[in-house]
Amino acid sequence: MELGTASATRGELSRGHLTVTELPTGTEERLPVCIAQGEEAGPTLWVTASVHGDEITGMAVAQDLLTDSLPEELSGTLVVMPNLNPAGLRRNARTSYYGDDDPNRYFPDGEHKPEERARPPEIQERINRRLYDEIVETADAAVNLHTAGIGSRPFLIRGRVPYGDRRDEEAAQGVADELEDMVQAFGVPVVNQYAQEEYEELGLNRALSPALRDLEGIPAFTPELGSHSVVDELNRRAGVTGVRNVMRSLGMLSGEPEPNEAAPEEPVQFPVRRHRGPRTETPGIVRHLVDAGDVVEPGTPVAEIVTPLGAVKTTVKAEHDGYVVGRMEGGVAYEGDPLLSLAVRDESELVVPADGENGDAESGDDESGDGEGDGENSDGETGG
Ligand SMILES: [Zn+2]
Repeated sequence: MELGTASATRGELSRGHLTVTELPTGTEERLPVCIAQGEEAGPTLWVTASVHGDEITGMAVAQDLLTDSLPEELSGTLVVMPNLNPAGLRRNARTSYYGDDDPNRYFPDGEHKPEERARPPEIQERINRRLYDEIVETADAAVNLHTAGIGSRPFLIRGRVPYGDRRDEEAAQGVADELEDMVQAFGVPVVNQYAQEEYEELGLNRALSPALRDLEGIPAFTPELGSHSVVDELNRRAGVTGVRNVMRSLGMLSGEPEPNEAAPEEPVQFPVRRHRGPRTETPGIVRHLVDAGDVVEPGTPVAEIVTPLGAVKTTVKAEHDGYVVGRMEGGVAYEGDPLLSLAVRDESELVVPADGENGDAESGDDESGDGEGDGENSDGETGG
């Protein structure tokens, strides 16, 4: 297999780079690439990291998958790209300086075709498109490594699979089943994507995992490995074990997935989805009363909002069953601000009608109450 300047044949590991654009200052923007090709045939798994430039625990996981002995033990091909956002990494920031917004919202969505738009795509979208086309050409599955807020608990985001014009319900169920095997093998708590309306409002369908899954039917998911900006050793270990477990589940490594000793336990025994809240209507200084991993139910006090002199203005309570994934970053809250990232009880389906498709009237648009997607946090609040 060849990708950029990397070229591996059976039993080889090859390092190189993929040029994605020419910079105005005369050098090239290069994404580091490694291909490990096993002695035996098998699937091709892509592992990407740090599309958010400060999410370096994910980058460390990607780097540490690449051992010299890997090709000998591997069946199939592992493609690793430890940094999808050099322009963010160079300045220790989540975003690239191309437009200074979230680079993980510029993957294809199948609708806003560049040639039909009034404004042509700019640099970040062009970079993403070049990368995306390379992934789609060879990927049978993908793991896109991220981190979330400071002090957050490792988890992974499992997206729902849409059916409609691109695939029928049975095919969508097949993708969901493949995804289920992968996320269970990884071995950190599984959290389903935000409720559908929220997912759409946030434009999460244009993140990498959703684009691959929703458009191409490639099983892809997003581990969130704790805090951004520093490599967390425990979470790095959980990530390496997790990806190797996915490779075992795909038959790329021998043996069954092993217990992920570095990963936290599931705090609750019911399915959960992402949720950002509760929110405060009273602005002030935030004193959280709960932390990552704590179980909450409706009425559980989760934070006090105090004045600058420390007088309590109000106590904010949880509105859902679930657990705390992390506290929102920032010492102050304005009116309407969310205070926590939660995993809350989720009773929705994992295979859903595609948004806006009207092929069969009975499943229309509005029932997809908890559709999905993937990707991570929409803004800098929790890193994601
Ligand atoms: Zn991220």
